[in-house]
Amino acid sequence: MEKIAVFPGSFDPITRGHVALVKRALPLFDKVIVAIGINSQKKYLFPLEQRIAWINATFADEPKVEVAHFEKLTAHFCERVGAKYLLRGLRNASDFDYEKTISQLNAAVSEGLETVFLISEPQYSHISSTIVREIIKGGGDARQFVPEEVEL
Ligand code: ADP
Repeated sequence: MEKIAVFPGSFDPITRGHVALVKRALPLFDKVIVAIGINSQKKYLFPLEQRIAWINATFADEPKVEVAHFEKLTAHFCERVGAKYLLRGLRNASDFDYEKTISQLNAAVSEGLETVFLISEPQYSHISSTIVREIIKGGGDARQFVPEEVEL
C-alpha cells in the first residue's frame, strides 16, 4: 500500500523551512500532500489560489509532492486521501508543546493516524510564515526566507 503523508499548514506563504522539511520527508514516503487548511475564522495575507500556485511552482520538479486544500478536520482529510501519516516540523520547545497536543488529538479522532516530526535544521529554525508576513507588512525584503518561486 502507498505510504502517504499529509503536511498540513497555512503556508501563508510557504517558506524555505517548509521546503527543506518536505525534501527531507520525501525518502520516507511514496507521496507527500502539502495541504492548506482553510479556517474561515482566520485572516490570511495571501489568497488561497496564490498560496497553492506558489507551492505548485516550488515542487514542480518533485513528482511525489501534491498540493491540496481542505476545510474542517485535518484527520478527516487524511482519511479521505488515504494518508496514515501527518508530517510536522519542530523548531523549538513551544512548537513541541503545541504539536504534542494536536498530534494526540488527531490520533484520537482518526485511529492509527501517526504524526511524524522532523526537527528543523538549525539554518531554518528561525524561519516562520509569521516572521515573513511581519517583514512584508513592515515594508522589508523577505525573499531570503521563501523559495525563489514565491514572488514577493
Ligand atoms: P500552521 O498555520 O499550522 O502553524 P504553518 O504553515 O506555519 O502552519 O506550518 C506548518 C508546519 O510547518 C508546522 O508543523 C511547522 O512546525 C512547520 N514549519 C514551519 N516553519 C518551519 C521551519 N522553518 N522549519 C521546520 N518546520 C517548519
